[in-house]
Amino acid sequence: MTQPVGVRVFRLQMASLIVLYTVLVYGGIFLLTRALLLDSVHNQAASYASLVLDTRSWNASHGGVWVFKSSDSPSNPYLTQLGVSPDIHAQDGTTLTLRDHATMTREISEVSSTQGRVWFHLTSLDYINPANSPDSWERTALERIQKGEANVAGVSSDGGVRAYRLAAALTVDAGCLKCHSAQGYELGDNRGAVTISVAMRDTDAQMRLTGVALTGFGGLTLALSLLALSYLTSKMQQRIEEANMQLAHAAITDALTGSLNRGATLARLAEEFERARREKQPLSVIMLDLDNFKRINDTYGHATGDCALREFVESVKASVRAYDIVGRIGGEEFLIVSPGADSHTAYGLALRVLDGIRSSPLVCKVGLTITASAGVAEMTPTEESIDTLMGRADAALYRAKDNGRDRVETA
Ligand code: GH3
Ligand code: MG
Ligand code: MG
Repeated sequence: MTQPVGVRVFRLQMASLIVLYTVLVYGGIFLLTRALLLDSVHNQAASYASLVLDTRSWNASHGGVWVFKSSDSPSNPYLTQLGVSPDIHAQDGTTLTLRDHATMTREISEVSSTQGRVWFHLTSLDYINPANSPDSWERTALERIQKGEANVAGVSSDGGVRAYRLAAALTVDAGCLKCHSAQGYELGDNRGAVTISVAMRDTDAQMRLTGVALTGFGGLTLALSLLALSYLTSKMQQRIEEANMQLAHAAITDALTGSLNRGATLARLAEEFERARREKQPLSVIMLDLDNFKRINDTYGHATGDCALREFVESVKASVRAYDIVGRIGGEEFLIVSPGADSHTAYGLALRVLDGIRSSPLVCKVGLTITASAGVAEMTPTEESIDTLMGRADAALYRAKDNGRDRVETA
């Protein structure tokens, strides 16, 4: 079924709106979910950072903790550089070695890095232990922290693993000064950061799953909406076509009798007139007028007159040939256009029509019979116009009336 341009444009506009709406809604849900997932990872990193900083601060406030010295827990050589003796010997012969806050935190970070989900690193632009040197993400974060930011966060793939990273500033407190005052540290100074890394593996997988699910739901919503749109627009188009057909039919139909109305009858006559002239074929018209119809109205009422007109048309249609045209051109005046019929044939046809009317008593008014008179005119080879043809048929009809009605006269 071809669609009118209006329906096509409407369908296209609605489809674009549906696509836009679906993309916006599901895209919005995806972005929101991603933001929530990242927020949750950030909170995880932030709690981890605060745990590390609290532990480190506890250690610093106690000036470090002593552990048994062993091959797994050797002395910290950097303490000697800071002028602190790392070991003490107990009376029972064992040696204890000092774990300052930095070393303790770094050693815990080494333990945490083995499980691969969350790990952390102490780092500084001004490091003593090379293990604390920053990677490129940490270097940028440290530079921003030095400019005054307390925390720097972001996703990075430094080291080949995609991770959410949070750098929390390390500020010098009283505990730090016990060892670092010789380096010129002052209370509140910024001396580096602890960077927490949360592996993005699980979050990325969740995001991918969310993306796939939302694409699926979005696609389904889109498909169903477009299907509904297609169904509704084709229904709409069907209704428009039906309404157009009804309008077109009403425009050419006489409401009372269902025959062609005056305009449509004359238009069909014009077409057939031109065709007959072009093809040099005969054409006749039969003008019909009901006899004494005024009396029927006056005697039986207008409603009976109306139904008599309807039954009259049925009777005429039953008598004419399939290609004859029957139309109402006045109150109780009708025209039969008979293509291909010369005056002799049209005369016979008119007689048949009048016989049909006379011999069919009305159904709507039992016992009542109506008659009509007819004027026949054949188009001549030199016929000037439809008006002259109709004029001759009209004159013949007058003669039929004058000669006693219920009869046919030919022009
Ligand atoms: P004649 O035999 O000379 O034609 O006599 P007549 O009474 O039929 O005279 P005329 O043709 O002048 O009268 C037409 C009448 O047809 C007048 C009018 O009341 C009636 N008429 C016209 N249109 C309608 C209609 O739609 N319904 C009804 N019921 N009557 C109509
Ligand atoms: Mg009449
Ligand atoms: Mg009349």
